[in-house]
Amino acid sequence: MKNLSFIFLLFLFFSCKSEKGSKDQGVLDRVLFDTLFPSARLNKVQKIGEHRYTAYVLPSFEPVNQSPWFAFGLRATEKKQIELVLDYGPHKHRYVPKLSTDRVDWKPMDSSKVKIDSLQGRATLFLDVSPKKLYVAAQEIETPQDTYRWMDGLLDRSLEIKKQLAGKTVLDNHNYVLSHESVGSNHAVVLVARQHPPEIPGGTIGFKSFYETLFSDSPEAQRFRNHFNIYAFPLLNPDGVSMGNWRHNAKGVDLNRDWVDFTQPETRAVRRFLNAKAGEGKKFVFAIDFHTSYSGPYLLVLDSINETKTSRITPQWLANIEATSEFEANPRRRNQDLPYCYNYFFNEWGSEAVTYEDGDEVDREIIRKRAQVYARELMKTLLNKKKDGSLTN
Ligand SMILES: [Zn+2]
Repeated sequence: MKNLSFIFLLFLFFSCKSEKGSKDQGVLDRVLFDTLFPSARLNKVQKIGEHRYTAYVLPSFEPVNQSPWFAFGLRATEKKQIELVLDYGPHKHRYVPKLSTDRVDWKPMDSSKVKIDSLQGRATLFLDVSPKKLYVAAQEIETPQDTYRWMDGLLDRSLEIKKQLAGKTVLDNHNYVLSHESVGSNHAVVLVARQHPPEIPGGTIGFKSFYETLFSDSPEAQRFRNHFNIYAFPLLNPDGVSMGNWRHNAKGVDLNRDWVDFTQPETRAVRRFLNAKAGEGKKFVFAIDFHTSYSGPYLLVLDSINETKTSRITPQWLANIEATSEFEANPRRRNQDLPYCYNYFFNEWGSEAVTYEDGDEVDREIIRKRAQVYARELMKTLLNKKKDGSLTN
């Protein structure tokens, strides 16, 4: 991967410079594009005029849904504004570009600086560039290293959480699970996040906020942890994230279509871990799989026929969310035969489960707040169900 990025960088350097007539002009007008970091995605750059460039962004694997992830750095020998066309080939522009100078703080681009050609599916960005590197990405970049740093921070603060190796990925990277085990209780909740690399709003920001709420110091969270085991897979697709993939893992498989056949090491790691926990007597009562959608926020829930066979945690949870907050739950039913993660939990373990979708461009503070409310109301609902003996699992 590193070697490939290096080749891109060299190519971009020469393609920008060779357009100019003289060597001196080339040096003065140089714009350098950087793809030498995890999650970068930029296939080719072409100079198309004075201060004007086209950046070609293509997926690693086809077919793929419309999630054209891009991420690159750029700097210029002097301050100026450039026009940069994002060209996705046959695919269409989706994400409002986000800007950062340190890859930590990100801001969506002002709409006056982005011109969208919806017929061609391209976007033209008007960017102020300078010798200080500017990062441009489809969403805030959250690399595996960023997520692992967050996990290590949790371990420093809480002795209740253990980080375990659940398995390896296609590229032999680690796939971790965070485990909290409650003495004397077999009921367990399972969280899965970031099967799809670009889905940072719900898949990372929402997931982290949800998880941190379960581990807060509130009396309710403490009571919840006394009565429930919590297993979380914070980053199921680290290879895809590092490669800047639009959707797939390193083998070109959409992991959220692999929960019946289990052809990939990432999904098999979850199954193996849960089988082992079930062997120890654990009972999975609820699972959430975190994603992001163009039309989010919403939840994918069980179909109405299967819902009647459950403890009816989901309807109670959603009613509580709507009764106690300004958030709407927006449940959407899906066929239980689809090979999605949340269906696996119901079909294999009889566990209620949802796919949690937030939206591409929803304000990040609202995403965090929604996840806090959903987590608090889930804890209340499960504690009440446990108390009145209505958990069927
Ligand atoms: Zn997704």
